[in-house]
Amino acid sequence: MSKTFLIDTSRCTACRGCQLACKEWHGLPANKTLQWGSHQNPPDLNPNNYKLVRFHDYMDATDTIRWNFFPDQCRHCVVPPCKELGDIYVDNAIIKDEKTGAVIYTEKTKQFSPEEAEEVREACPYNIPRRNEQTGLLSKCTMCNDRIHNGLPPSCVRACPTGTMNFGERADMLKLAEERLALLKKEWPKASLADPEDVNVIYLMTDTPDTYHEHAVAEAKQAAPMTKKQLFAKLASPIKAMKA
Ligand code: SF4
Ligand code: SF4
Ligand code: SF4
Repeated sequence: MSKTFLIDTSRCTACRGCQLACKEWHGLPANKTLQWGSHQNPPDLNPNNYKLVRFHDYMDATDTIRWNFFPDQCRHCVVPPCKELGDIYVDNAIIKDEKTGAVIYTEKTKQFSPEEAEEVREACPYNIPRRNEQTGLLSKCTMCNDRIHNGLPPSCVRACPTGTMNFGERADMLKLAEERLALLKKEWPKASLADPEDVNVIYLMTDTPDTYHEHAVAEAKQAAPMTKKQLFAKLASPIKAMKA
């Protein structure tokens, strides 16, 4: 069974230790950014940030101002639509490590044309992959698969001082998620887990997903008419089957 993260946002202080640890482990350079009215920095995921702590403030139903933090990263989907589509264009540009569950973008992603790379990006229901326009490389969180194979936790998990970032065997993380959810629901009736059946990075939120991030869950969009990205993801499987 694969490895899984439980990201318990109720414990997150937005210190951004995870974000920096990720950059450090992967040797990713700093971005030049401007302050634009939010502590979220940089403004979005980019080829130099596989992890981004998102900030969202809002007024809840009791007129209380809330500030929610969402340490965003690839969900390492159980059946990754990005890979399903990517394999149509360049076989195994995106690979899945069945031992850990990590979905890995390789150097072969440079072989995607800009249009193909955009289609792969759009197949992701969580808006995660980013393309380096200079090199053509498509990139995102690696699950720190190299560390896991050497008995180390992912760098962001190691750095988190509050217990927000948890990592382990999938069955253990699912059990912990259910226990934490039951506890939090006593104070936060709207608490929920984000798509736990479909992903290996499970978020626990105390309020509705939209109060955290537009792409916190994939399901929110599925009730609406099918988007281009959902259409591609749906098309990917049968086309791939025909190729086999
Ligand atoms: Fe691919 Fe997006 Fe799933 Fe990550 S979250 S595995 S990029 S579809
Ligand atoms: Fe970054 Fe590794 Fe954490 Fe992914 S698992 S966000 S690559 S530190
Ligand atoms: Fe939140 Fe932990 Fe990341 Fe700090 S290190 S921002 S507490 S998840």
